[in-house]
Order: sequence, then structure tokens, then C-alpha cells
Amino acid sequence: MFLSINKKTSEVVDHTKINLLVKLQHLDNLIENIVSLQKGLPEEIAALDEDLAFTRRQIESRKKIADDNQKLRQKLHETINECREKIKGFKEKQALARNNKEYDALSKQIEYEEKEIAHAEIQLQDIAHADQRVQEIQQKGRQLIAENRYDEISEEMMPDDVLHQQLEDLQKQVDMKKEELESIVIETAGDVNELRKQIDGQRELIQKEAKRLLDKYDHLRSGTMQNAVVKLNRNACSGCNTRVPTNRHTMIVQGGFYLCESCGRIVVHERLFEEAGK
Ligand SMILES: [Zn+2]
Repeated sequence: MFLSINKKTSEVVDHTKINLLVKLQHLDNLIENIVSLQKGLPEEIAALDEDLAFTRRQIESRKKIADDNQKLRQKLHETINECREKIKGFKEKQALARNNKEYDALSKQIEYEEKEIAHAEIQLQDIAHADQRVQEIQQKGRQLIAENRYDEISEEMMPDDVLHQQLEDLQKQVDMKKEELESIVIETAGDVNELRKQIDGQRELIQKEAKRLLDKYDHLRSGTMQNAVVKLNRNACSGCNTRVPTNRHTMIVQGGFYLCESCGRIVVHERLFEEAGK
């Protein structure tokens, strides 16, 4: 066993404990390397999925408007036909009217139905105008696309067919990336499982031998930091590049560790990582 005195605290430092932790960091680094083989694919897939959902929502909301308009149009045409039927009936009765009072009463009913027809026709025109506006806005979008002025295109300017094409393209991209990721995951599953087992074993060992160091390690890695234990590089912490005080170099060279005053990482001599890798 390798012992040295930490001058600041006059505490006896057990170097085998730090070796156990460096080994754990080494194993965690190996897993990290395998995960990095996924080349940011999970993040890319998440972003594409988001775009896909957004495009799908746009298409669905357009479809809903189109469906609603279609239903309304149909209903208005039915109303117009019914009114015309009624008018036809009233006119037949008018021809048989026995007096002016009866005739006028039927005229009023005809007038009412004619107003209903006019009202329905105005609504039909409103729908047609709205449709036309949508087409004009999309035409503007088509023009901007042709001129490569993509940043000027608003959501509603995106032509229907381009939107559908976009959905199709995004779906293809997502499927491709997912397939790629899956094959990487399958290829590396064996190595990852083996490393996970080794990591579990190593953690159990440190839990018994150096629980405080393991807690420190886990605390450091609880955020986004992956490398809690780092090498001394050109007399600096390689995690954050802050210089390590000269009076700590000897201890590090002897196989001890130093807690970086700037980032809190555990700094050790690179030799310890070489040994952990054997
Ligand atoms: Zn540091």
C-alpha cells in the first residue's frame, strides 16, 4: 500500500482508494466513448420528432378547417335547395289563390325563403373568399420558396403540397436515423453490458473501501459533468485548465489526488489512468 502525507490537512492519504476511483472513471469513460459513437443521433432524432409533430399539427389544423368548410358548404346548399322547393310549392299555391289576402300571405312566405337563400349565398361567398385568400397566401409562399427567401415564409404561407412533402421527408429522415441508432445500439450492446457489470462491481468495492470518495464522485457527476476524475495536464486541472499550486504537484506525482479549487474535480497523475486501463 502506498501512503503519503497530505501537508495541508496532515491526513494520511491512502492511494489505493484513489486508484479504485480512477478505475471507475476509466470504465465510465469507456461507456461514454461508446455512447459518443451514437454521434448525437438521439438528440437529432428528438429534434426531428419535434419538427415532425409540428408539421403534422399544421396539416391537421388545415384539414380540420377544410372539412368544416366543406360541411358548412354542403349544409348551405341543402338549405338553398329546400328554400327553392318551398318557393316552388308556394308559387303553385299562389296560382290557385282564391283571393288577394291568400296571395299576399304566400308572397310574404316566398320573400322569407328568398331572404334565406340570399343569406346562405353570402355565407357561401365568404367561404369561397376565405379559400381564395388561403390560396393567395400560399401562392406568395410558393414565390418566396422559388426565390429561396425561406426566412420570410410564415406558417400559413407554406403551400399544402410543400407541407405534405416536408412531412414525408421528415418521416424518412427520422426512420433512417432511428435505424442507424438502433444498429449502433445493437452492435455495442455486448460491450456496454460488460462495462456496466464491471462498473457495478467497481462501485460496490469503492462503496466499502472509500465511500466518501464515491459520494464526491457521484456528486460531481450528478449534473452534466462526465469527468469527475481528471489528469494533471501541464500542471493544470485538465477539466477546467486552472493551474494546480506547485506545492501539490509532489503529492499528485506520488499517486495522491488534489481537489481542483476552481471546478471541484479530482485531479490525479496521468499514470493512474494508464494503470487503470491495464
Ligand atoms: Zn478544475
